[in-house]
Amino acid sequence: MADEVTGGCQCGAVRYRIRSQPRSSMICHCRMCQKAVGGPFAAFVAVPRTDFEPVRGAIAVFKSSKVAQRGFCRACGTPLTFDRIDSEWLAVSLGSLDSPDAFPPRKQFGVEARHDWVLDLARIAEQLPTEQRLADLGRSVQASFQHPDHDTDHWPEGDAR
Ligand SMILES: [Zn+2]
Ligand SMILES: [Zn+2]
Repeated sequence: MADEVTGGCQCGAVRYRIRSQPRSSMICHCRMCQKAVGGPFAAFVAVPRTDFEPVRGAIAVFKSSKVAQRGFCRACGTPLTFDRIDSEWLAVSLGSLDSPDAFPPRKQFGVEARHDWVLDLARIAEQLPTEQRLADLGRSVQASFQHPDHDTDHWPEGDAR
């Protein structure tokens, strides 16, 4: 199973498998991607459509144009796919992979809408890990309801669904 890549949404209602290594990783800065992920840009890996298999739950879709739809988890809202309907390729959101660091982006699209400040992220002075940020706020790390970055038999644990 070494060639298999897994992932899913934040709440764990949707889990998927990709039966091959993604062949390209990209960022899209276009205004539609910004809106769809609620962030400064979207990041995706491209996989053959036939290699992508949901293994838990169902992916809801929003038809964002005449030629494309965007898949997400209906329970938690995590963006999961960008699906150009007539393509044999499917774009899967990088952040939903269990191992996103394995696929650094090599291409940027939609640069006409790219925020100028994105180019300067590394120069932002204040850069803190989560634990230090919480400590500065006088808080400890709280139990998260996020699904872990690996497959589970069921989730949440102890839930008899
Ligand atoms: Zn979810
Ligand atoms: Zn885009």
